[in-house]
Amino acid sequence: QAKLEGRGGSRMFKSDMGSQVRARRLFDRDLRQAIACGEFQLVYQPQTTIGSGTIVGFEALLRWRHPERGDIPPAMFIPVAEDSGSIVQIGEWALQEACREAAQWTQALSVSVNVSAVQLHHLAFAKLVRDVLEQTRLSPDRLELEITETALIRDLDRALWTLRQLQALGVRIAMDDFGTGYSSLSTLRAFSFDKIKIDRSLVRSVDSNEQAAAIVRAVLGLGRGLGLPVLAEGVETTEELAFLKQECCDEAQGYLIGRPLPIEAYEHIVRLADVSRIAAPLVWRRLA
Ligand code: C2E
Ligand code: MG
Ligand code: MG
Ligand code: MG
Repeated sequence: QAKLEGRGGSRMFKSDMGSQVRARRLFDRDLRQAIACGEFQLVYQPQTTIGSGTIVGFEALLRWRHPERGDIPPAMFIPVAEDSGSIVQIGEWALQEACREAAQWTQALSVSVNVSAVQLHHLAFAKLVRDVLEQTRLSPDRLELEITETALIRDLDRALWTLRQLQALGVRIAMDDFGTGYSSLSTLRAFSFDKIKIDRSLVRSVDSNEQAAAIVRAVLGLGRGLGLPVLAEGVETTEELAFLKQECCDEAQGYLIGRPLPIEAYEHIVRLADVSRIAAPLVWRRLA
């Protein structure tokens, strides 16, 4: 009987795989059409210095507003788009859109764009970035590209070659989700990143959990040793922020400071005339 069940089980599994593949293919077809149909949107999340709470830039995050399925989070569609290669077109759209948007800001704030491994391994990626900067007339020093360590695993030499070209353009390269991959430390040796972003899984409860605190302190020490600013992702409470401030972390990003929202929500910040007034006063007043 066990045998029968086994066979049935495996048949079920196979047909299940078949329908999964079909579903993925349909999903990817939708994904490709979504660019043309204008279903993608970028939302922007502020990044602030921890010392004074000054907003220094925004991270652009993709949203897919599907007409029937509603909002589909990036965690659901980016892996599919990476598998099929459609991330190349989607990523190009996101880069273009973020640079076009940032070029209109009256403040010289930076914009951070996430780059997937597939895009980075595309030979023409550095040229694309150069062309987009030229077209949008965004100064290269206002663009930051966020790379995850996994992006560097597949073909390190080619990735490094592209990253060096990008840095030569004047674009900054941040290591995203630091502490979640396999080779964080060797990757930091292989390339001179401009910033480390500590993953939010390491930042959570840092004020109350001794292990979390020790790990974040170690990453901050690493940043100091390498002369790299460190940004903490996913800061949700004033206690976490206070801890990070006490430990001299450079920058923070998270729901406590601001949610990822359509740029209209931050219009008063990106179009302010006086840069010294760009702050997140509410949060920082609570902190003091
Ligand atoms: P990420 O680059 O590490 O982005 C940070 C994620 O954390 C975002 O999720 C953001 O909404 C979320 N987040 C920020 N602050 C908080 C917080 O205080 N609490 C919690 N719980 N979450 C917070 P999101 O927007 O769902 O994006 C997920 C991931 O999808 C991103 O992680 C990034 O890897 C990828 N992604 C997003 N946009 C793009 C894109 O344009 N291109 C590529 N290749 N990947 C993208
Ligand atoms: Mg990111
Ligand atoms: Mg991250
Ligand atoms: Mg992430």
